[in-house]
Amino acid sequence: MIYLDHNATTPVRPEVREAMLPFLTHEWGNPSSSYRFGSKLKSVLETARAQVAELLGASPREILFTSCATESNNAAIHAALKADPHKRHVIASVVEHSSVLAYCRALEREGICVTLLPVDRDGLLKLADLENALSDDTAIVSLMWANNETGVLFPVTEIAELCRSRGVLFHCDAVQAAGKVAIDVRRVRADYLSLTGHKFHAPKGIGALYVRRQAPFTPFIHGGHQERGLRGGTENVALIAALGKAAELARQQLRGYDARVRPLRDALERGILDSIPGTELNGHPELRLANTTNITFHGIESEALLLLLDQEGICASSGSACLADSDEPSHVVRAMKPDTGASRQMIRLSLGIETHPRDVSTVIQATCRAVAALRS
Ligand code: PLP
Repeated sequence: MIYLDHNATTPVRPEVREAMLPFLTHEWGNPSSSYRFGSKLKSVLETARAQVAELLGASPREILFTSCATESNNAAIHAALKADPHKRHVIASVVEHSSVLAYCRALEREGICVTLLPVDRDGLLKLADLENALSDDTAIVSLMWANNETGVLFPVTEIAELCRSRGVLFHCDAVQAAGKVAIDVRRVRADYLSLTGHKFHAPKGIGALYVRRQAPFTPFIHGGHQERGLRGGTENVALIAALGKAAELARQQLRGYDARVRPLRDALERGILDSIPGTELNGHPELRLANTTNITFHGIESEALLLLLDQEGICASSGSACLADSDEPSHVVRAMKPDTGASRQMIRLSLGIETHPRDVSTVIQATCRAVAALRS
């Protein structure tokens, strides 16, 4: 198998699996219990919290553990709306992940006004559009760091400064940035920032939300006193330990990530674009994650191409895995190129640190064969 779908999920690293195993075997206590068999596990949670904080340049007290980034994204927007009930306007972009867009649609049904900012053909956002959309009524701006389908990077430092200068809270979905680019909340002054472990080699079902010390927060999940009363529910010690270890490894490996992955991605992309006619890159050529390429194959349905690649043992996708079971074309590519069929005729290839150089030529050849078969 050649796995080129790291923006959908990543393999669990052996060190991460090791870090969680004690809490799935003999250390199964409840950290909230008063006796030591349980309470000693509090230190496991705090070690992981410090590891995640370090990945973000945050303080451990600013990290909340959640079940996934979907929860983190929902919780951040919810917190901002609860902070000032008079502010009933949310700004996001048309290319956000469904965990932001679907929540925005649900909020609209409750009377919240939502502005979705457009993107250009390269998937980029205009700061002037954001500036014009901000109003005294705006509770929060929620924009992603890196797009999951194209890898396109939004100017998050400038977005954060603009929001700050207008006194509006800023939430950043940094799910695809974690482990791929340096995240430092002292530089990118977001009020909230979301992560999910399975995009950087922890298991699925564990996420985190950074909440800046001064930012308002009202629980999204009500329950016990866990997470200082900010998120109810008995902590999943094993997954939290795994998230902490994965964050530590991601930070250590960040320096080598770009140098290793970018040349392979570029070779793959060049190989496909140069050898197959009727192909087109989706997303800005430079302002992009090092691991992601999104290519339109004119006249070929995404699903047909993915099926032939799958038959050759190649895992790729046509957009967000969360929406893969729907017939809808990619909302991201459609927003970038509404006048073409590009959104139904594209695939995303996303590499990982373990992608082997020889996989690149194998995938180029397999793609050439598949396209030739589909066009014949
Ligand atoms: N945000 C982005 C940009 C994503 O790519 C994903 C996952 O695909 C999510 C949020 C949601 O993550 P999870 O499925 O862990 O809730």
